[in-house]
Amino acid sequence: MSLLNDFERKDLAKVGQELYRFAEAMYPICRSITGDGIRQTLGLIQNRIPLRMVEVPSGIPVFDWTVPKEWNVRDAYVKDKGGNRVVDFKKCNLHVLNYSTPVRATMPLAELKPHLFTIPANPEWIPYRTSYYKEDWGFCLSHNQMSALEDGNYEVCIDSTLQDGHLTYGECFLPGQSADEVLISCHACHPSLADDNLSGLTVATLLAEFLAGRELRYSYRFLFIPGTIGAITWLAQNREAAARIRHGLVLTCIGDLNGFHYKKSRQGTAEIDRAVSHVLTHYTESPKFLEFSPYGYDERQYCSPGFNLAVGCLMRSVWGSFPEYHTSADNLEFIHPQQLAGSLRVCTAIVDVLENNRRYRNLNPFCEPQLGKRNLYHSTGGDGIAENINARLWVLNLSDGEFSLLDIAERSGISFSKISQAAELLRESGLLAVVPEDSGGETPQRQPQKETPNLSRLS
Ligand SMILES: [Zn+2]
Repeated sequence: MSLLNDFERKDLAKVGQELYRFAEAMYPICRSITGDGIRQTLGLIQNRIPLRMVEVPSGIPVFDWTVPKEWNVRDAYVKDKGGNRVVDFKKCNLHVLNYSTPVRATMPLAELKPHLFTIPANPEWIPYRTSYYKEDWGFCLSHNQMSALEDGNYEVCIDSTLQDGHLTYGECFLPGQSADEVLISCHACHPSLADDNLSGLTVATLLAEFLAGRELRYSYRFLFIPGTIGAITWLAQNREAAARIRHGLVLTCIGDLNGFHYKKSRQGTAEIDRAVSHVLTHYTESPKFLEFSPYGYDERQYCSPGFNLAVGCLMRSVWGSFPEYHTSADNLEFIHPQQLAGSLRVCTAIVDVLENNRRYRNLNPFCEPQLGKRNLYHSTGGDGIAENINARLWVLNLSDGEFSLLDIAERSGISFSKISQAAELLRESGLLAVVPEDSGGETPQRQPQKETPNLSRLS
C-alpha cells in the first residue's frame, strides 16, 4: 500500500487551505502548559480525530519534576491615569507573561518597569515570555509601546489563577497490525504563535486524520502535549508504551517559508533518521540535517539516555534561529498554506517509508530472471520507464534477505517510492517474497551498537 500515492491524489492547494484554516481557528486561544486554553485547543483537534484527553493532577511527581499548578487567565491590563488600557491582554494574549500570578495594584512606572518585557531590536513586536517554574508576574509589549509610557501611576491587573488543578494532554492512538509504535509528538502550549506550535498541531492532526481507518503496519501514537513537562509526564506515566516506540518524530515550525531542517535522533542512524533523510533529499530542495543536541523540543526527553528512543525533530526554520521566533511576528502571516501542505506531504512520505520498508528475498537468485517474458522489461520510451526497470533490477539484486528496501533506495539513488513499487510488482510476479518480520526481517536499523548503547529498554 502506498500512502504517498494516495496522498498525491489530493489537491495540495485545498489541503493547504484546510491546514491554514485550522491554524486560524486555534490561533486566538491563550494556551499554556496547563489550563483551559490547551483544553479548548485539544477540543478542536478532537473534532477531527479520535483524541483522548488526559488530565494529570498538579503535584504528581514525574521523574525529577512535579506536575505544576494549573494556570488560567481571564484578563490582564495596564491602565494609565486616564483609565486607558495601554497594555491589553484582550488585544493580544502575548501581552501577559505566561503563568503570571494574579496582581491588582497601582504603581509608578519605575516600579512597573522591571515587570515589562520588550524587544528593542524589533520595536514593533511583542515578545513571548513565560515564567512556569518561578512565581512572577509581568507584561510583554512592543518596545514602541513601552517608550510611549509617561511617568506617573499605572493600574495593573492580572486576573489569573494559579492553583492545584491538572495538566492536560491529548493522545490519539491508531492501532496497526504490529504493537510496535510510531510516535508523532507536538507541543500545544504556546498562545498565539503560529509556526512554533500551530503548524505542528495542524499537520499532526491532518496526518492522523489521513491515517485513521487505514490498515497500518505499525500502531501510531499522536501526542499533543505541553512542551517539556508534557513529554516528561507522558514518559513517566507510559513507560510500557514508550518501550514499544520504534520510530518517532517531533513536529514543529513547519509552516514557514524556509526549507526543511531535520534534527537527528540521539541514535543518529536509526531507521527514522534514514527515512527522513531519504525523503527530504528526494522530495525537497536543499534540506539540512542537524546532529542531535540535548537542547530543542521534546525530542530531548524522548532521547534522554534512559529512553534513547529513535525520535528526531522535523522543522523548517530552527527554533531560536529566526527573528520572529517567540514573538508576535510568528503570526498567521508567517505561515503559509502551501508550506503546511508540503510539510504534511513530507510527513506522509516518511510514514510511507516506515510502513513499507521491509526485506525481501529474490526467489530466482541465480542470474537475472528474464523480465521480458514476464512483461516486466517493456520499454515504451522515456526516462521514467528506464528508471522503473532499473529499480526492479536493484530490488532483485539486493533482495537477499539482508537488505531492506530503504537500503536499496539509498544504494541505488532511486526514490523509496519507486523501489517499493518495484518490489510490489516483483512480488506479484512471483519473483520476490517478503522476509517474515519475526525471522530477523524487522527494522534493519544497523545501529552502531558501540556508539549508541541502549541504556534501558524499559524491560
Ligand atoms: Zn517555543
